[in-house]
Amino acid sequence: MRGALGGPRVLLRRLREVMAEPVSAQDRLDKIVVLIAANMVAEVCSVYVLRVDGTLELYATEGLKREAVHQTVLRSDEGLVGLVASEANPINMSEAQDHPAFSYRPETGEEIYHSFLGVPILRAGNTLGVLVVQNRARRTYSEEEEEALQTTAMVLAEMIASGELSALAKPGAEPAVRRALHLKGAALNEGIALGHVVLHEPRVVITNFIADDLPKESKRLATAIETLRADLDRMFEHGDVADAGEHREVLEAYRMFANDRGWVHKLEEAVMTGLTAEAAVERVHSDIRARMLRQTDPYLRERLHDLEDLANRLLRQLLGHDHAPSRESLPENAVLVARMMGPAALLDYDRKRLRGLVLEEGGPTSHVAIVARALGIAAVGEVANATGVVDQGDAIIVDGSTGDVHIRPSPDLESAYVERVRLRARRQLQYLALRDKPCVTKDGESVTLLINAGLVVDLPHISETGAAGIGLFRTEMQFMVASQFPRAGEQQQLYRSVLEAAADRPVTFRTLDIGGDKVLPYMRNVEEENPALGWRAIRLGLDRPGLLRSQVRALLRAAAGRDLRIMFPMIAAVHEFDEAKTLVERELTHLRRHGHKLPDRVDIGTMLEVPSLLFQLDELLERVDFLSVGSNDLVQFFYAVDRGNSRVAGRFDELSPPVLRALKMIADKAKQHGKPVTLCGELASFTLGAMALVGLGYRSLSLVPSAVGPVKAMLLELDAGKTEVLVSSLIARSDGSASIRDKLVAFAEAEGLPM
Ligand code: PEP
Ligand code: MG
Repeated sequence: MRGALGGPRVLLRRLREVMAEPVSAQDRLDKIVVLIAANMVAEVCSVYVLRVDGTLELYATEGLKREAVHQTVLRSDEGLVGLVASEANPINMSEAQDHPAFSYRPETGEEIYHSFLGVPILRAGNTLGVLVVQNRARRTYSEEEEEALQTTAMVLAEMIASGELSALAKPGAEPAVRRALHLKGAALNEGIALGHVVLHEPRVVITNFIADDLPKESKRLATAIETLRADLDRMFEHGDVADAGEHREVLEAYRMFANDRGWVHKLEEAVMTGLTAEAAVERVHSDIRARMLRQTDPYLRERLHDLEDLANRLLRQLLGHDHAPSRESLPENAVLVARMMGPAALLDYDRKRLRGLVLEEGGPTSHVAIVARALGIAAVGEVANATGVVDQGDAIIVDGSTGDVHIRPSPDLESAYVERVRLRARRQLQYLALRDKPCVTKDGESVTLLINAGLVVDLPHISETGAAGIGLFRTEMQFMVASQFPRAGEQQQLYRSVLEAAADRPVTFRTLDIGGDKVLPYMRNVEEENPALGWRAIRLGLDRPGLLRSQVRALLRAAAGRDLRIMFPMIAAVHEFDEAKTLVERELTHLRRHGHKLPDRVDIGTMLEVPSLLFQLDELLERVDFLSVGSNDLVQFFYAVDRGNSRVAGRFDELSPPVLRALKMIADKAKQHGKPVTLCGELASFTLGAMALVGLGYRSLSLVPSAVGPVKAMLLELDAGKTEVLVSSLIARSDGSASIRDKLVAFAEAEGLPM
């Protein structure tokens, strides 16, 4: 039966001619279905297009009743066509009526057809429609025919995506590909961005699907795979893994796939059906993505992601140019959309034009999220398939406070958001007016508001917010965004510019807090069962003092002639503090001996973020110059609940009697010892948290910069004495409830506090 009109290759050649003809969209579709039916000797060939309402509309047919075109509409779960669409998988059956999903539409005259071959029209793994051939007689469609139909579907996918068919649609029933979408993810950084999509890894646009010369395409594919393998080997051997922004194990997976016979074979096969090499990669790639979108096992999803990355590399290889977007020529109001991105990659973009960030992965503690916060751009993470449903330049709204992402929003929605942006701007202006106002509560208590920082891009926030200084400078950030260990000179330069930006305001530098979830891509990772409880922060610093020593030296030299404040992360026992302090003193002696100019004064303190310190407070407070409470880790270890694991993170509330009692104990003891204490965890950055902390006796808070305005506005209206009475009574005798949040909210409302 096959090949009556020349077989699949002839079909593809003719298809190319039809695509080039200057005819209307409907005429083109009509010609395509006639062509396929004739070539495959099928009585029926039909194109169904997925509409915005989720149904499938018959757009063209050869063989079914012509009146049914644009009239027959199937639900997406209806019949075999619906099944092909929802599963994104071909169905090939010689007796379709045997299939339990078979459904029959009398208006099409379909009942007399026995054989059925349907393939999804896929683009980036998303179903845009279904292409079907049917025969009256029972026949088996060959694998080659199925391939040819899939190739035709690819061409149709581009036709649908280009918007060419939109003119044929009834209002409200347009092809789904350009529909408005609402996606939901995890809020990473507050703010609202209205702008246009910039794909961090732009989709490589293929214009030439059908091969002129098969052996030539085959050879192009083979050469590209060879080059890809060689590149991966080179990256691996030269250890420039970090430069490529990838971890070793990812590279390892890439190498495995690039050498996988199955994968390579699939690509070769696709070329043999008559595709160009790039179209073959795209075909296999789209199938992988479709599978990935339906995959729930996180490990397998990850591997499919690796395969997808590899296919992207191969496409770039084949098209001979680098498709990375130009970092400098961003459009105005750019919203970056990426599967995942390293922190350094984000910093490469022009900040002035960058408004928002949407990631498919990237939880709140990811490094890129930290940088997004420092840059002050609205960011949402964990948005499934974000890159698959947008196109370069699409209108997009990112609401970083709620995790909502709207793609191609309706004008109504857009104006609602414009209004919200205006409101926010007005509020920001009010905060700005408070900038130079002393932070004193209604009853005359002074509260020091500092900011948390870690990168050069954070520095303007000091004067923008009017903060009293930097309460926590996370020195590991410089290490996290770099592609190799920053040299001592670079560290010293950063510290000096931080001190200069702060002018006479204090800066508290925290020594390297790496390990746990803070991994450096260029540092050999030690496999640990429980990294959060493992070899991290000061433990690493004391065991391998070289790194800590050179950092301390860089700090001391940067602060020559000024005051310096140093603190250590993750101290769990007093003797660790003693050892770390001794290390600093030794460095001071060393510099003095070598005639270096020294800081005028060095204060040495510690983070309090491990609960064991709660039972060594007297000994600790006798030794330190100051304390800084890291409530993020303290609460994590207090309740034994991973702060980054969404399954358990919501189980316990920081605003609960046990946590607040511990925090009060720290504040009381510090006062007793006459030692200053600051709280620098995220708790202080929520107005309600800050209110509770003042109620516990805290008078120094270090916040994310965007929280300074709202927290200050609240504190100016607060009666600290009244709050202390309330909080003390709420935690003194608990009724066993898990949280006192509601009671604090009720108090804030009754007091008319701006929350
Ligand atoms: C903390 O643990 O509260 C803290 C401020 O440190 P980090 O968030 O950097 O771990
Ligand atoms: Mg911490």
